[in-house]
Amino acid sequence: MAKLEDYIPIVGRNVINELKLLGERLEGKVIQNINSAAVGGGVAEILHRIVPLLRELGVDARWDFIKGGEQFFWVTKKFHNALHGRIEMITKEMFDIFWETSLINIQEVKIYGDIVFIHDPQPIALVEKRDDLSKWIWRCHIDISRHDPNVWHYLKKFILSYNACVLSSPGFSQNLPIKQFLISPSIDPLSDKNKRLPKKYIESVLTKYGITKDKPIVTQISRFDYLKDPVGVIEAFRRVRKYKDCQLILAGGTADDDPESDRVLQEVIEKANGDPDIHVLLIPPGSDLEINALQRASTIIVQKSLREGFGLTVSEALWKAKPVVASSVGGIPLQIKHKYSGLLCHSIEGAAFSIKQLLNSPEYAKKLGEAGRAHIRQNFLLTRHLRDYMLLFLAMYHPKDMVSL
Ligand code: UDP
Repeated sequence: MAKLEDYIPIVGRNVINELKLLGERLEGKVIQNINSAAVGGGVAEILHRIVPLLRELGVDARWDFIKGGEQFFWVTKKFHNALHGRIEMITKEMFDIFWETSLINIQEVKIYGDIVFIHDPQPIALVEKRDDLSKWIWRCHIDISRHDPNVWHYLKKFILSYNACVLSSPGFSQNLPIKQFLISPSIDPLSDKNKRLPKKYIESVLTKYGITKDKPIVTQISRFDYLKDPVGVIEAFRRVRKYKDCQLILAGGTADDDPESDRVLQEVIEKANGDPDIHVLLIPPGSDLEINALQRASTIIVQKSLREGFGLTVSEALWKAKPVVASSVGGIPLQIKHKYSGLLCHSIEGAAFSIKQLLNSPEYAKKLGEAGRAHIRQNFLLTRHLRDYMLLFLAMYHPKDMVSL
């Protein structure tokens, strides 16, 4: 794994020195991160990088998990969808299932952090264990701007017991009596997912999945999730292909805490209907080098989500200077300034129009990709994220008013 010094050629020595100074200020504090899955999805992706680097900075960061059965994760997935604004039938029985598992975790998860950093709704109820000494922060990775009032009302009871919450984009903020911090996620430019790769390796991955480079490749990398709209991507692709010969890669996996993915994958396979130009790839967890290679091999990257927390896949693609067509939802507009660092779309037709435009104008596509890479370097690399998190932790000990970042 990369060390802090390895980031100097990318972000400069001053940035790393600043991180070291902040790390010193946090000496002696234990930061306990808790979430529900070690792999799958953006939250796990970020914690895998943030935790070791905080430790290298001298901050005693640790990472624990809650446990839950199939029913619990089925309920939390419904909550997740409902908080994103998808219409879901939420019943009293679901709240009961959530609470039963939460109670077990409240009993079993050992809390020892000076700062307890809870990620997403699954472990939110652990705050019932809070004592007066520790500081509790809820990190919400979901776009809660159109939340289902029922689910929000239920979770709010817990949120109010936190010292602060962290949201990914200004548009997600809520009317709450606790402090809200706005911190965008980030990507690690030196991880297997994002580092430079030899051409030969990229080609070997294409060969492994039976993909040839004889026509442009349009790709969406995402968990098989309704909110990522893989079926919509196939529809957009079919519209494009009427005018321009190209192929589509839909590559994704499942997450430990996502019980819906098998069904979505099945729908995608049915929709693809054996079309030899649609490559539906089920990628096992931990295949970061392969994901990286697929992104690098692509002509255009798509992220046609119906809802999105932040959309790390967009940052990953832009960092590779790829032209991106993505929905204007969640944190995506923070990453894509329309017609400058990518193209935003609002529908299947819009996505198809933009993909077609980029396939027909390679020079324009290249410019968008390059501007995208510069934008990610400035705003969405791991070093900025580390700085924001350490400032957040320090703000918990500010004697009077905490200042929002
Ligand atoms: N990802 C992966 N394998 C997959 C699908 C996604 O490693 O099969 C990664 C993807 O590259 C990104 C993260 O999982 O780093 C997804 O984060 P994002 O914010 O895009 O979406 P989330 O899954 O958190 O909703």
